[in-house]
Amino acid sequence: SSALKSAEQSIAPANNLDAFWMPFTANRQFKSRPRLLVGAKDMHYRNAEGDEILDATAGLWCVNAGHSRPKIVEAVQKQIAELDYAPAFQMGHPKAFELAARVAAMMPGNLDRIFFTNSGSESVDTALKVAIAYHRARGEGTRTRLIGRERGYHGVGFGGISVGGIVKNRMFFGSLLNGVDHLPHTHDREKQAYSRGCPEWGAHLADELERIVTLHDASTIAAVIVEPVAGSTGVLMPPKGYLEKLRAICDKHGILLIFDEVITGFGRLGAPTATEYFGVTPDIVTMAKGLTNGVIPMGCVAFDSKIYDAFMDGPENVIELFHGYTYSGHPMAAAAGLATLDTYKEEGLFERAAELAPYWEEAVHALKGEPHVIDLRNLGLIGAIELESIPGKPTARAFDAFLKAYEKGLLIRTTGDIIALSPPLIISKAQIDQVFETLRGVLRAVD
Ligand code: PLP
Repeated sequence: SSALKSAEQSIAPANNLDAFWMPFTANRQFKSRPRLLVGAKDMHYRNAEGDEILDATAGLWCVNAGHSRPKIVEAVQKQIAELDYAPAFQMGHPKAFELAARVAAMMPGNLDRIFFTNSGSESVDTALKVAIAYHRARGEGTRTRLIGRERGYHGVGFGGISVGGIVKNRMFFGSLLNGVDHLPHTHDREKQAYSRGCPEWGAHLADELERIVTLHDASTIAAVIVEPVAGSTGVLMPPKGYLEKLRAICDKHGILLIFDEVITGFGRLGAPTATEYFGVTPDIVTMAKGLTNGVIPMGCVAFDSKIYDAFMDGPENVIELFHGYTYSGHPMAAAAGLATLDTYKEEGLFERAAELAPYWEEAVHALKGEPHVIDLRNLGLIGAIELESIPGKPTARAFDAFLKAYEKGLLIRTTGDIIALSPPLIISKAQIDQVFETLRGVLRAVD
């Protein structure tokens, strides 16, 4: 039978979907009815059937400049022929330094020391590890505790799921990190439904950090990590004043504040970062996705220079931080990152997102009253449509909407019974209209 199996594989490898264990996917459902993308340009995907699919999710919140943009394609093509790989430890190549300087220049405050990773998850683990090591380097080695938040998503590493607060991402994976506590999440539909932008209610929930500090004592706490806008958990905007309060409490107790900007970095809110958009500066910012427009995997962490400086105390010939990845600052990713930042700048895409945001907001909230809709949320070029769950079948209605939208040539994303929208920043007003007209039809068609 193994001969038969290999014969089968050699006959039709392209049609055999068995071997790929797909991430965050209902594998059996997908494989019985696959949705395969084979091409992409600007605002559209093309699928294996030849249909054009309007991308209302920027891939997975990453393709902020749109698909297959010429400058980025060219930069990667040129790079692979010139320098394919350079060791990342005790060696370097110019583009990684150039990209770090460009990201540093984009960051507010002293967030100008950039560490390269390959993903959001690695950025989060890097941030958490460095936060703990920083306190130790300063002689406060008791500060090892990490504070996350319920409903938080910080990727899938053990550090990220420990501080994260999405139950299904945690419950199967054992005891996780010790010494982690969680703030309450900030969502209360009764008090916040149909808020435009950030809700008025909820800033007081940041005061829970004081309670956690009292419980554990500040001398045991290294850092607090939150997403300024929580994406994967259903798009939750920070209540007005909430992030400011977190900053003040962290300052009071010498706790580092980490913003996970994996989805908000690089223009999503109509500013380079949420840090800048909200005017609240953390000590550490994690990023990925839009850094390279999703073209080559890459993430980065921006550290306040005081953190970097704390490590630069010992003998100069000794490695200061025992952390890093084979592919930190990979030449192809660095080239893609530079061309991506050029594209954002030359086309004014962050400003464009800010200009489109009011039009987008109107379009989101115009869905009020459509079947099943129980809340609408927006900020920058982010939208969320929360649907009432079918009793006993959570997620089923939104997934049905996802399939129906795809059949109508629109890519959306769902989490729970929430539709999350995050289009490339090059979207036109006519395409925004198309997204919401299609969704209106979908909402009227789902059971
Ligand atoms: N952090 C946040 C806030 C995210 O939204 C994500 C991914 O969606 C991650 C971390 C993980 O990023 P990656 O999937 O690149 O590891």
